[in-house]
Amino acid sequence: MAHDSSGLAPYAASESASLGRRYPEPATRYRSEFQRDRDRIVHSTAFRRLVYKTQVFVNHEGDMYRTRLTHSLEVAQIGRTVARALNLNESLTEAICLAHDLGHTPFGHAGQDALNACMRDFGGFEHNLQSLRVVDELEAKYADFPGLNLTFETREGILKHCSAKNARQLGELGRRFLERRQPGLEAQIADLADAIAYNNHDVDDGYRANLLTLEQLREQAMFAREFDAVHSRYPDLEDRRLIYEVIRRMINRVVTDLIENTQAAIERVRPESIEDIRSQAVPLVAFTEAVLAEHGELKSFLNRNMYRHTTVKRMTDKAREMVRALFGLYMDHPSQMPQEFSARAGLGGMAVKARVIADYIAGMTDRFAIAEYERLR
Ligand code: MG
Repeated sequence: MAHDSSGLAPYAASESASLGRRYPEPATRYRSEFQRDRDRIVHSTAFRRLVYKTQVFVNHEGDMYRTRLTHSLEVAQIGRTVARALNLNESLTEAICLAHDLGHTPFGHAGQDALNACMRDFGGFEHNLQSLRVVDELEAKYADFPGLNLTFETREGILKHCSAKNARQLGELGRRFLERRQPGLEAQIADLADAIAYNNHDVDDGYRANLLTLEQLREQAMFAREFDAVHSRYPDLEDRRLIYEVIRRMINRVVTDLIENTQAAIERVRPESIEDIRSQAVPLVAFTEAVLAEHGELKSFLNRNMYRHTTVKRMTDKAREMVRALFGLYMDHPSQMPQEFSARAGLGGMAVKARVIADYIAGMTDRFAIAEYERLR
């Protein structure tokens, strides 16, 4: 059997300590189980659709902004660096990072909020739980099982948050949310790699879209430190290159901080197995307090000045309206969905129908949702 865990830290996720797949499968000759998970994710329909899903800007607004696909690739690249530096399982980290947004609706967080509101009486909608649903149920690719039949460790990493109510229905996977246990280190890395990626690429996208000014950015401690260093060394650098250079250094600083602070935490706790990681009261993968504070500051700055900017808000209000309208239309006319969905929608009561509609809408790309809205209204 192919392993990619030889030589890794004893508390890294490994094939030999894996809790396995829901449907047991024979091992492959040339790939480890976590490589196999990553490959299944890359081949999935939901992954391909990420290219036409919004991160902050609606996909057709400009082709130089991040989409959920390029975001996911940036997350994976940061995650792999951290995993490798800490002697952890790089393939598993990569798989989790690539899959973390598979359940995202069209139109970014506005779409998710609208769909959640539509689903209020039917169990709600949460993109994180939906990512798990995509890999467990919705992808239809294999003869022997529904979904992608990923390993427990990859699924554990995909499910970042979960309400107690949902956790109770998820068996072993939900257990840590009820008992306040932690996921493996690879999942913890993927979680923070996501935060590092969006904080930094949103500064870049926000600046290029003229939503954020250099003056505003220079009031952020994390930005200002690198800006001053770059500016004093290269006083004549034009703004475009200067911004890139600053962001490059910001990423380097937080990633280095994350690796070194986590290494120190591991040395303090001295875990001997992945079980020692899971039984910790708090995650071991963490920034130092100083970086955590600056990182949080930058995040709330982006929240105030970019995600709630009038230009973005005009777009997100429209997006919310489209999701609401589509949901209502399919509830009244399920036959407007493709046959595989409308057939499933008819198999139960209102809650079943609503869930099928949520699955259908969540799977849409931005442009498909817009086209459907134009077709049906
Ligand atoms: Mg993300």
